[in-house]
Order: sequence, then C-alpha cells, then structure tokens
Amino acid sequence: MIRGTKELLKLTIFHTEIELRRLSLKPFHDHFKIIFTHGNEENGNPSQMLYYFWLRDHCRCGECINSRTFQKSYHILDIPLNVKPIQYHLEEKQLSVIWDDGHSSEFSLEWLKNVHQPIVRQREYFFWNKDTGSDIVDNSISLDEIKKNKTKCQIKLLKSLLKYGFAFIAGIEPTLNATENAITTFFPVNKTHFGDMWQVTNNYLHNDTAYTDSFLAPHTDNTYWTEAAGLIAFHMLSYEGTGGNTLLVDGFNAATNLKNNRPELYDTLTKNVIEWEYVDEGVHYSNIDHIIKHHPLTKDLWQIRVYDYHMRDTERAPQNVEGASHKDNKGRNNRV
Ligand SMILES: [Zn+2]
Repeated sequence: MIRGTKELLKLTIFHTEIELRRLSLKPFHDHFKIIFTHGNEENGNPSQMLYYFWLRDHCRCGECINSRTFQKSYHILDIPLNVKPIQYHLEEKQLSVIWDDGHSSEFSLEWLKNVHQPIVRQREYFFWNKDTGSDIVDNSISLDEIKKNKTKCQIKLLKSLLKYGFAFIAGIEPTLNATENAITTFFPVNKTHFGDMWQVTNNYLHNDTAYTDSFLAPHTDNTYWTEAAGLIAFHMLSYEGTGGNTLLVDGFNAATNLKNNRPELYDTLTKNVIEWEYVDEGVHYSNIDHIIKHHPLTKDLWQIRVYDYHMRDTERAPQNVEGASHKDNKGRNNRV
C-alpha cells in the first residue's frame, strides 16, 4: 500500500505571531480596505481588501445561520451582488455594519484579523524507507489496549496513519468477523465490487493479479475510481507455502525524492493524466487522473495514484507529453 490516496486532515488557519494592536477601515465602492496598525505608526502598515459581498455572506447572526445545523438559512443568490454598507461602526472588539439590503451584521475583530492568513497544513510527516522504517516504534496498538481505552487507541492509530501512512493492530483473531469488528472500531467499511469485507487468495476469482500467486508491485488501490479508498486494511487469515511477504512503500517519500532528484520527471507525473480502468464480470470502472496531485490551495503533495496493471490498455500513443524531458542531464534517453 502506498501512502497518499486521500487527504485526511482538515485544513487549519495559521495564526500570525505578530500581535496586531489596532485595525481601521476605509470604505470603497465594493470593499473595505482593512488596515492593521501597529502602535502609532501611520505609514507602511499592512492592509487587505474585504469585499462587501463576501462580508455580507459571512454574517453569522441567528437570522443568517441555523443554530442547530450551523448552515446558512439563505441562498447566496439572495444577497444583492452590489450590496453595500449604509453605516458601519468600528468598536473595541467588533465591527457593526448596516447593509443597504436592510440587514445588520456584527463581526469580531479577532476574526477579521485572521481572514487573510494563508491556509497551511499542520501535519507532521515522517518520511521513511527500508533503512529508516525500522525506527518507527509508535505505530502499533493491540486488541487489549483497545478494550482498555478505545479513544486513546483511536487517536494513536490516526496519528500513525497521518504521520507514517500505515499502522498495525495486533492480537486480532484470524477470522473475517474478528477483523471486521476491529476495523469498525475505528472506521466504517466501504462497499466495493469485491464486497465490503472480502478474502483474497490465488484462486482467480476476479480479473485481478491480486487473485494470483504473482508478485504485486507497489501500488495504490482503486485508481479506476474518482474517489479511491483512503485506507485499506489487510489481515492474513491463513498461510501455507513460501513467499507472500507484505511490501510497504512510503509513496510521499518516493515522490519527494523524485522531485528533488529528477524534477522534470516529477513535473511530468503532475501534469499528464492517465486513463485507469478495471474490467470484470458485470463491472467496468474507468477514471482519468494524475499520478501525482498537489493540494489546490496549499500546493503541497496531496495524493498519489499509481497501479501499472490498471492503466487503460489503449492503442493511442502518447502525444505532446507535458513537462517530459526525453534525455536526462547525462544525455541518456528517458522512459516517461
Ligand atoms: Zn446575518
């Protein structure tokens, strides 16, 4: 399993370390200019634009927001596009506005000071490889621990998934039921064409190399879906024979290494899409997406989607591959 099929973190707002003492407003035709003032300095203070329409749409009064659902009680198109304040008053802790559509709003200055801060992801990654993977020690919980303190185990498991991309649960009886009980302690189970919980063995039950005894190269699952599963759990219920070792790869580490060492190839994987496909009796899934995706807001590495066996078998040769360099810096031909 390669890490990175789905972003699990919510985005958080970055708070500036600068203590902003005062704030002033200047009204323009469609926005306030919001000026952050430090002490008595008059010039060189940072300022931002605060559009009236946006501000009116962010009123959080009891009339605008349903106090039980925390959702809006109106449609955004109900607000006049050219809405303007007919009166505003800046107080010690809040801005009061009377709008020309007859509505009144109050906004806390603390909130106003933060609305222009960039969104950053506060996430701790530990990039690992075959040498450093053995340093990971805080990524395992046991069934006994779950029985004693479920919440503590849920936190530990989630932290490990976010930090390393994987975690272990030990001490589960090797049956499908026991495995499902352990999994549903933490997450709901996704329904798929294989089933919600299902057994995989080398019996060719589905048209998938996972149902053979062949080597499975590192991959992410469900590349042929628009929303790939964010997490997959494996449990070996029985074992006879030799081989069958589990291979884990830190996909974010691999992608970061590629970006550092061969940025032109990394670029190719972020700019060009692949056609993904899965065909089996009664099912035909297909999807088109990039191998490497960045978060649209933070621009951070966000998702990796790769499975060689599910690339669509197309007769169309690639044309105009964007970002591809066909020779490396030593003049050798590259396969892109
Ligand atoms: Zn309101």
